[in-house]
Amino acid sequence: MELNWNQIDYKWRSKWYEAKDFETDPNDKPKKFITVAYPYPNSPQHIGHGRTYTLADVHSRYYRMKGFNVLFPMGFHYTGTPILGMSKRVQANDEELIEAFKNLYNVPEEKIKEFVDPVKIADYFHEEIKAGMIEMGYSIDWRREFTTIIPAYQKFIEWQFRNLKEKDLIVQGNHPVGWCPNDQNPVSQHDTLGDVEPNFSEYIVIKFNIGEEIVPVATLRPETLFGVTNLWINPEIIYKKVKVDGETWIISAECAYKLEFLNKKIEIIEDISGSQLIGKKVHSPTSEDEFLILPASFVTATTGTGIVMSVPAHAPYDFQALVDIKNGNQKNIEDSLRNEVEKIQPVTIISTDGLGDIPAQEVIKRMGITNQDDPKLEDATKEIYSKEFYEGKLNSNTGEFAGKKITFVKEEVKEWISKTGKSDIMLELTNESVRCRCGTECVVKLLNNQWFLDYANKEWKAKAHECFESMNILPNEIRTEFFNVLDWLRERACARQHGLGTKIPWDTDWLVESLADSVIYMSFYTMAKFVNSGEILAENMNDEFFNYIFYGNGDSEIIAKNAKITIEKLEEIRKEFLYFYPVDSRHSGRDLVPNHLTFFVLNHVAIFPKENWPKEIVVNGSVLMDGKKMSKSMGNIIPLRDAVKKYGADPIRLAILISAELLQDADFNAESISGIKNRLQSMYNECVKFNNPGKIGTEPEDIWILSKLSKLIFEVTESMEKMRLRESLHHILYGFDSDLQWYMKRASAKNRNDISGVLNRVLATRISMLSPFAPHIAEEMWEKLGNSEMVSRSSWPKQEEQTDDRAVQNESLLSSVMNDISNITKVTKIIPKKIIIYTADIWKSKAYHKILSGVNSGETNVGIFIKELISQKETENVKKDPDFVKKTLKDILSEPMDLRKTKLNAGEIDESEIISNELSSLIEADYGIKLQVFSENDYEKYDPKNKARMARPYKPAILIE
Ligand SMILES: [Zn+2]
Repeated sequence: MELNWNQIDYKWRSKWYEAKDFETDPNDKPKKFITVAYPYPNSPQHIGHGRTYTLADVHSRYYRMKGFNVLFPMGFHYTGTPILGMSKRVQANDEELIEAFKNLYNVPEEKIKEFVDPVKIADYFHEEIKAGMIEMGYSIDWRREFTTIIPAYQKFIEWQFRNLKEKDLIVQGNHPVGWCPNDQNPVSQHDTLGDVEPNFSEYIVIKFNIGEEIVPVATLRPETLFGVTNLWINPEIIYKKVKVDGETWIISAECAYKLEFLNKKIEIIEDISGSQLIGKKVHSPTSEDEFLILPASFVTATTGTGIVMSVPAHAPYDFQALVDIKNGNQKNIEDSLRNEVEKIQPVTIISTDGLGDIPAQEVIKRMGITNQDDPKLEDATKEIYSKEFYEGKLNSNTGEFAGKKITFVKEEVKEWISKTGKSDIMLELTNESVRCRCGTECVVKLLNNQWFLDYANKEWKAKAHECFESMNILPNEIRTEFFNVLDWLRERACARQHGLGTKIPWDTDWLVESLADSVIYMSFYTMAKFVNSGEILAENMNDEFFNYIFYGNGDSEIIAKNAKITIEKLEEIRKEFLYFYPVDSRHSGRDLVPNHLTFFVLNHVAIFPKENWPKEIVVNGSVLMDGKKMSKSMGNIIPLRDAVKKYGADPIRLAILISAELLQDADFNAESISGIKNRLQSMYNECVKFNNPGKIGTEPEDIWILSKLSKLIFEVTESMEKMRLRESLHHILYGFDSDLQWYMKRASAKNRNDISGVLNRVLATRISMLSPFAPHIAEEMWEKLGNSEMVSRSSWPKQEEQTDDRAVQNESLLSSVMNDISNITKVTKIIPKKIIIYTADIWKSKAYHKILSGVNSGETNVGIFIKELISQKETENVKKDPDFVKKTLKDILSEPMDLRKTKLNAGEIDESEIISNELSSLIEADYGIKLQVFSENDYEKYDPKNKARMARPYKPAILIE
């Protein structure tokens, strides 16, 4: 019967809802508190979002089956500017956005009209996302749901902020931030198009001069001042003469614009075209040298001051621009000037092994660059920059800095120039182009007297470091990324002028920034239940209340009275927090590593005592669609709810999880969906067929398959613990097939009709392990198998005491002999009339195990083995057949470790008994003849070709006639 996925989804969703199994309250069981970054409801979720939430759900369901009391809650993050920006665009009748609402997200027209109110946008997509989460089968306790603009949450955030300020972790200061000039608001990742975190670097502005007028250049490499040969301007640019804090500077208009945000007093005097500057000479700020101003097309108005100092020995652009002039490729230049340029020679000031005498020249030659507009110059620049930075040393022509390494000298040179008073600082965004969601190009702004979270605080960082160190991080390889983020973190603006959210309690003109109000909210889940039920009212939640719940501080009687609840209720809320905290696992996408996840740890270590620090972070990569990045512009975004309708929840869950381990990008495509559906369908059919949990047989193959099943449970459990879900799924869905085939072959050779009990057991085990991944269809299959209780309520399968190594070895002997026979018949093209097998002599088996245990303890020398075996009575026969030792050693060494281990555990096995008893039926089934078995030392054996002496343990000799 073809499965109706939507119907199955609906059926089990309803049953879970009725059972209230995912509503979690404290009890006597050990708990797991699993959280995932809550969604920002400004659009419906698509398949990409589904990955993080599905991972967390699988994790929750797994732990539930392992016997934990699992809390998996969800909230909705309304705070911030993006939703406000959207509502403004709706107010302005922005066609593109309204089209997207209509056609891409299928929002009804009358709803869109309400979207002039930002809260209506958030509410709409909130319900949309929630419905999708329910349809995906997420095992969430919805009683604890909240949004970040409800009054109780705002009380909580106010408490958090006052708390941090008391600890001096929120400071007022002047610090640079990414900034939207249009919104007059700081911007971070959530506020920018394409979710770019604005990063900036500090440029050193070096002031060359023509008389009283300053010609400033901005550089990241102040040490190259010693190698300057000229300056570059772009003749196409109209520069500005500008009064900057009283001095007259010649800079690009763009530079003047940016300087204003860095608190410079700017007054534009007049225009001066780039071409007017060509041929003029500037004075060095630190020596008597004079340098020509020359034209170059690579110079842009948007970088630095729009004027560049030329260091041709170390900067490929500079070198090439000089060559372009010398070659006559530069039009804006007179012959007399060109003659002067001919005299300019690169000045090498840094020596680096492998870069040659004039590094820029060498790399330009190697890359085949022929003009300054060649994009390869970018790579050339990067290559030299990084090599010189890490390995370069300054030459003797750099005065007091000679012999120093570039890595360490930068700051010294910077200070040296700044002492002359001929330098300044300029901050620039390092990202290519960062645009605010409103469309405006962002800048760096020095904010004065703003509120900052003091993430530069060394003690705070050290505490966070300690927490990261003690934490489980999955996958572990991402741990160093967190340490790097901690290292470079500095003060972070935590106030905003616009948006939804909570006001800064002591400065109510400002709102708490959206990444700052979403760092410790996991603790709010423990009380959200009481807020939602109306047991406690927001207006009665003051700082003393939170201090009691989170710290146990204060007089409970007074606090309960002020909070207008009973002492019992107060204690209950406190107990709820104590029971569920700390967070046992925090799930999130990789893009939140440098911000949310790091802030989450920082704020936890600041606010909570050590026993409430988070225990684990799980980070996942993104989802590709048919191998391509998902994006609105590519038109390849599938809203999650549409996908559930089309494919069913479980096939989507599996398709997302089976294509990649945590950090890799998962690929979603129709082909994998249909493969998964077929697989699930055939498992379902088997459940219908083997629905009887009858008796388990005791034949060797029964013991063997249950032993294998036990091993499967072990492997899956081990992968689950490491959140290697792709591996787990492969084991569950496909990893058992060849074993099952062998079992069926063995059973059918014996004409058995009592195997449905075993098959039922195997299926039940696989399905119960499948159920965290594909919860709906697993319930359906579980029911078909004859279970009356839901599989989501069952226990994770336990490994049977010990795998029976002997049974495993016996079966592997049988299957390898069957394989050998089949190979021989294939090669010789004989249709067998007789199959005779000779098993090895007893002494060989003893020798085999001595060699095996020798290998296991690290011995691999044939000579030593031979000597030792001969010296012992039971294996002295080795001297008649020393070649046996060599071959056996080779047999053993060619096997994987775990196989050697099971053989060692199994001990000596009676091969002639196993082969006589168990192989006969297989031979008869496959070849229709009777098997003959002899022992090597049997005097009356039939051995016309003298094969018996070749027999070795696990490698009996075979004769086919
Ligand atoms: Zn903006």
